[in-house]
Amino acid sequence: MPIRILPPILANQIAAGEVVERPSSVVKELVENSLDAGADRVEIDIDKGGSKLIRIRDNGCGVAKDELVLALSRHATSKVATLDDLEGINSLGFRGEALASISSVARLTFTSRTAEQAEAWQAQAEGREMNVTIKPAAHPVGTTVEVVDLFFNTPARRKFMRSEKTEFAHIDELVRRIALSRFDATLILRHNGKVVRQYKGATTVPEQERRLAAVCGTPFMHHALAVESEHSDVRLWGWLATPEGARPQNDLQYTYVNGRMMRDKLINHAIRQAYDELLPADRFAAYVLYIELDPRQVDVNVHPAKHEVRFHQARLVHDFIFQALFTALRQGGQAPSPQSAP
Ligand code: ADP
Ligand code: MG
Repeated sequence: MPIRILPPILANQIAAGEVVERPSSVVKELVENSLDAGADRVEIDIDKGGSKLIRIRDNGCGVAKDELVLALSRHATSKVATLDDLEGINSLGFRGEALASISSVARLTFTSRTAEQAEAWQAQAEGREMNVTIKPAAHPVGTTVEVVDLFFNTPARRKFMRSEKTEFAHIDELVRRIALSRFDATLILRHNGKVVRQYKGATTVPEQERRLAAVCGTPFMHHALAVESEHSDVRLWGWLATPEGARPQNDLQYTYVNGRMMRDKLINHAIRQAYDELLPADRFAAYVLYIELDPRQVDVNVHPAKHEVRFHQARLVHDFIFQALFTALRQGGQAPSPQSAP
């Protein structure tokens, strides 16, 4: 075959392959967009495990009418303009690919209104050329994104979707993770029209503890030690269960770096080492831990789904986490008392 430039929809579908693995990946991208837009209330509606409908409604800043077309195009973002921005990134998004990718594998409508506009506008990406059409709509300030018939045009992906129950369980788990990343935001999750989770914005310490208990359960709270430590401008805080609170599964292991959820090998290794001989071989640690450091000290542009990071001073971060948790587990920490939310 001769070399050719891929048509836009195919290029976007290839990019979608990296980030849109299943319905919960769509929810992740869209809720992160809402939070980046300054929303403190996000409603998530799911039908049939997300295969039929994913609808995210937020009260964020919205997108202006004349930027709607751009928002849905590939490599278009309001979050970075220069390499310097990228290296000091504060937002969850920055690749400018999510909306273009999702709209290449589903029917996507994006309805939005900014505070400056008297009316809302709705954008839709259509056809092989992915031309975006817009029309007037009714919507308060903020955004609603609707994703219908996910993977309708990519049968291989569609085949990999599991049962409605399994896909919804992934979404539920994702929303739990997000709930712990932003205590101040109200999150509502509905499945097939029924409210499944309702996390009310938590600002006071008792409210935050209630959210922690709602996500992690009372057994975790009974065994949780609060930790807070700082070293060389790296801050670590959160909660971890004493060995008595260890679990038969690794289902309560939440780590965040600058508010971004992570599954990072280095962090996990430091935590495992801190527990070491305290944990029986068939038990798993339980923790909710936040690492905060200068964004310039960490590279988040390592993985398209951004699950991993690269710390510039990896050894230092690793040893600090290890040391702080090692000490807390052996000397006992305080009873739960949350610090300010990230
Ligand atoms: P990225 O988040 O990496 O910038 P996306 O494709 O997810 O890329 O979004 C493209 C752009 O669309 C964003 O940079 C932002 O300006 C705008 N956008 C997307 N979702 C929202 C939203 N819910 N509220 C306001 N603006 C949004
Ligand atoms: Mg995004």
